[in-house]
Amino acid sequence: MQTESTPKVYIGNHLSSSAGFLAMGKHATKLGANTFAFFTRNPRGGKAKEIKQKDADALCSYLKENHFGPLVAHAPYTMNLCSDKADIREFAKNMLLDDLQVRMEVIPGNYYNFHPGSHVGQGTEKGIQFITAALNEALFEGMHTTVLLETMAGKGSEVGSRFEELRQIIDGVKLNQYMGVCLDTCHIWDGGYNEETFDDVLDEFDRIIGLERLKALHLNDSMNSKGARKDRHQKLGQGEIGLDILKQVVTNPRVKHLPLILETPNEDEGYAEEIALVKSWF
Ligand code: FE
Ligand code: FE
Ligand code: ZN
Repeated sequence: MQTESTPKVYIGNHLSSSAGFLAMGKHATKLGANTFAFFTRNPRGGKAKEIKQKDADALCSYLKENHFGPLVAHAPYTMNLCSDKADIREFAKNMLLDDLQVRMEVIPGNYYNFHPGSHVGQGTEKGIQFITAALNEALFEGMHTTVLLETMAGKGSEVGSRFEELRQIIDGVKLNQYMGVCLDTCHIWDGGYNEETFDDVLDEFDRIIGLERLKALHLNDSMNSKGARKDRHQKLGQGEIGLDILKQVVTNPRVKHLPLILETPNEDEGYAEEIALVKSWF
């Protein structure tokens, strides 16, 4: 039972949305989770399913009854708002618009996380301009979703591996009261941030972006050494970051209220184990 002395931790993993909204809620419970992530549409294509309002309402009631933390939906990987090709940018922008104006609105009060994008040689400045322009078209007054920029590893021409770049995007968005950040432990490690001194990383985050913008963590170990700019996730404790640092990160008083999403290479059984492990840290 939850008491005053047992701090609440929100943790879950990526779930398949193929069986519908309510099914994901029940699946999460089975794994011991009380939040989860899901792709708003096919992660590698972009095709979306028809929305069933009844199913969405059923999930919302379920989340409330079972004291879930906010969900952290994920945009498809193919959504590149700052591509060098106009048709790809247009395709991405239309996905963003549909996701925010239609798909997320049926489950109000949750987070929508996306990879800022890859500028494909156009340069970070140009990339940031495209990203903010798309966000300025998609966000609307009165929306019920907070849009999260994910911290990236800096692989290839990825935008968003430095806190400064995320800040610049947020500054360019008019309705940035609806903007936040999701920090991915594998990505910032591969991006060169030193999580051994996570308090320093948070100080830096606070100085550049503002800690009030930090809304969620992606909890992953990394197959690569610090600063490798590679982005390959590993199971907790089996990678280069290791359990000691990951534990220190998630139990930090400044972030321990945030939803934690596992994106580790696991099946259900492995996720249930990692969820139990992280809960045991609190
Ligand atoms: Fe991601
Ligand atoms: Fe991630
Ligand atoms: Zn990643």
